[in-house]
Amino acid sequence: MRQLPEPLTGVLKREHQTMTAMVRLWCRGHHNSDDDLCPECREFLAFAAFRLYKCPYGPSKPTCSRCPIHCYKPVMRDRAKAIMRYAGPRMLFRHPLLTVRHLLHERRAAPPLPSKRKSPH
Ligand code: SF4
Ligand SMILES: [Zn+2]
Repeated sequence: MRQLPEPLTGVLKREHQTMTAMVRLWCRGHHNSDDDLCPECREFLAFAAFRLYKCPYGPSKPTCSRCPIHCYKPVMRDRAKAIMRYAGPRMLFRHPLLTVRHLLHERRAAPPLPSKRKSPH
């Protein structure tokens, strides 16, 4: 599993926290996990963290659902959608603050791409 060269910060860190909470809900509900994620969900979360790290928008990142690039490979994109669909409604009760922040963020349109963007790969 790839490690991030440096920790995520700011909006990217917050997105990772939201994603982690969602994956935990999904893993608990689908893979009978407790505190630890199953290997498949750990792999997904590591992939998602790396996408965040490489996101060409950096700190002005939109939510991935509004992104015109869609850097996820198809299998991971399908998994992300399934996780969101399942965990989204449950998040409001378990993590209201993260959810409200995410919903507010989701209302913002994607900004223009920075001219010197990091490669998404
Ligand atoms: S490039 Fe788009 S899909 Fe990929 S992490 Fe950034 S916002 Fe999400
Ligand atoms: Zn799992």
